[in-house]
Amino acid sequence: MKNEELNTAYDVMFMRRCLQLARCGEAGAPPNPMVGAVIVCDGRIIGEGYHRRCGGPHAEVNAINSVKEKDLLSRSTIYVSLEPCAHYGKTPPCADLIIETGIRRVVIGCADPFAKVNGLGIKKLQEAGCEVQVGVLEQECRKLNRRFFTFHQEHRPWIILKWAQSEDGIMGGDDRITFSNALTQTLVHRMRARSGAILVGTNTALQDNPTLTTRLWPGPNPLRLTIDRNGILPPTLHLKDNSTPTVIYTHESIEEILADLYVRGIGEGVQAPILAEAKLAGKQVFCQNKVETWERKQS
Ligand SMILES: [Zn+2]
Repeated sequence: MKNEELNTAYDVMFMRRCLQLARCGEAGAPPNPMVGAVIVCDGRIIGEGYHRRCGGPHAEVNAINSVKEKDLLSRSTIYVSLEPCAHYGKTPPCADLIIETGIRRVVIGCADPFAKVNGLGIKKLQEAGCEVQVGVLEQECRKLNRRFFTFHQEHRPWIILKWAQSEDGIMGGDDRITFSNALTQTLVHRMRARSGAILVGTNTALQDNPTLTTRLWPGPNPLRLTIDRNGILPPTLHLKDNSTPTVIYTHESIEEILADLYVRGIGEGVQAPILAEAKLAGKQVFCQNKVETWERKQS
């Protein structure tokens, strides 16, 4: 392999590690994006980090802090799956920190569409004389934070369509059969815990009378949504029990519903549960299609 090809292969390999690390922040990072960072000196990883919790240090800070031999930093490359920030948020700008440490090369997975960053981090690094490369594994990096990107770029939530159907493609009908089992139900509740809102149509609200709350997984309830164009949903439905915030749309188009959800901040991400409050379901294990739940000790 030529030197250039070898460099590219190394860049892809280290960016893949950034993505692995970023995913570790799945539960804690939102509504911030998931980000991973790796610091490499002479082909060897000397530091790693990821964004663990919204409000906590960013991936770059954790990676830099993890380096034992700080004097190696000035001849190292930092790989980061998302553009380093350039603004004072809950923490100081990571671009400034990278510049201060003397790191000369910065490899970025994808640019950050967030209005306060949006290319400013890259610009800051370049102006300080860093060699900046953007777009290594760009599609993967964007896909990882598709909720964050959709919210900030398209001003609507990322939408997941979820349904149950039989092997031959049937979804319901007069003979109502339950397809779900304990495993799929737990996965559904995990999706609920990580979604800002959940929408069912009028027929589902009437026929299934769902509660749409999060019970089999720790985390907040999604905002419950339904559509009732003809005013036929009775007050006895679980959706009308006032147990958790619910919006019933009566005349809005789907575009208007999405715009309303954007204004409500739905899709920006769901705050991770405060662990002390998530007493139920401390640990769930899937075993032979059976879900076992341990309760966390109450403190
Ligand atoms: Zn940052």
